[in-house]
Amino acid sequence: MKVYVFIEHNGEAVRKPCLELIGGARKHLPEAEITAMCAGQEIPDRVRHLPVDNIIHIKSDALTDYTSERHSYAISEALKNSIPDIILISATFQGRDLAPRLSAKLNIPLISECTGINVDNSNINLIHPMFGGRAIASVSTTKDEPFIATIRPNAFPSVDGEGNPQIEEVKVDIPDDIQTVEVLSVEDTTGDMPDVAEAPIVVSGGRGMKGPENFKMLEELAKVLGGAVGASRSAVDEGWMPQSHQVGQTGKTISPNLYIACGISGAIQHRAGMSSSKCIVAINTDPEAEIFKIADYGIVSDLFKIVPLMIEKLS
Ligand SMILES: Cc1cc2nc3c(=O)[nH]c(=O)nc-3n(C[C@H](O)[C@H](O)[C@H](O)COP(=O)(O)OP(=O)(O)OC[C@H]3O[C@@H](n4cnc5c(N)ncnc54)[C@H](O)[C@@H]3O)c2cc1C
Repeated sequence: MKVYVFIEHNGEAVRKPCLELIGGARKHLPEAEITAMCAGQEIPDRVRHLPVDNIIHIKSDALTDYTSERHSYAISEALKNSIPDIILISATFQGRDLAPRLSAKLNIPLISECTGINVDNSNINLIHPMFGGRAIASVSTTKDEPFIATIRPNAFPSVDGEGNPQIEEVKVDIPDDIQTVEVLSVEDTTGDMPDVAEAPIVVSGGRGMKGPENFKMLEELAKVLGGAVGASRSAVDEGWMPQSHQVGQTGKTISPNLYIACGISGAIQHRAGMSSSKCIVAINTDPEAEIFKIADYGIVSDLFKIVPLMIEKLS
């Protein structure tokens, strides 16, 4: 079985969720030959030493910055004559943008937003949370039909080690007329903190935070835990946190190992973005708050008492 894993990079570093795809493929598809495919004029040195069997470097100077049209065109051109059994793409913003276009161009199905994968005698089964995590679908494909799956960050353990893969360079000519947008600049809005969609631990605040100044406290807790700060849409709409931190239906869908919800009621649109977290802790003064229905640990109390205590005890 051939599994291709799409590697996102910024020219220097590889994004962690892509290393998790390799970890997931190795763990759940141990028989597979794993190929990392990476696009760009240059690729980071780390890619050349990934612990995989092969690397495909899809090369063009038009691929320096990510754009939907160019990347989907280049990858589909590179793969069209030998489509692998499975293409794994991380469910990041970029991956969610790329995967449907690639699926259409290669004319193979896409199973999106998966959190697990397992194989039985005849099928490959993908785990796909639905309806804000209220239902879990197991989507089965036969082993002889190629497909693409997007996998949520933190679904699988990352890989650290190095390998000595075969590297194949595929040069692709990209016609100018397929491009409708031009990248003028790329700005990192996450600062020193990990991206909320990729962090293993997320401390999120809602309207119960009462004001932007109180998010400092959550930043402190996130720092102590090595995590990122998230926010409900109410907190974002109030202007307390940037939209890039929003968790939920119209924000990011995340699956951290630990999600701490502070002053968040747990509306369905918020739960849609975080209910597949592996452990949920909720701090809320209202014992009837919806968030407690999905929380593994609930603290019915004032977050302004509990969060400083957590910082003190965990520091
Ligand atoms: C189309 C659509 C899309 C949406 N997309 C999103 C989305 O992506 N993400 C999202 O989050 N929402 C989204 N929403 C909004 C969603 O419906 C809720 O309005 C929102 O999630 C509520 O945010 P909140 O929990 O912070 O605020 P509230 O619902 O006001 O809850 C605040 C909570 O804080 C608690 N609290 C207050 N003071 C304290 C204290 N001192 N200590 C502890 N607890 C305290 C209260 O008991 C309450 O439960 C969307 C809505 C629509 C219609």
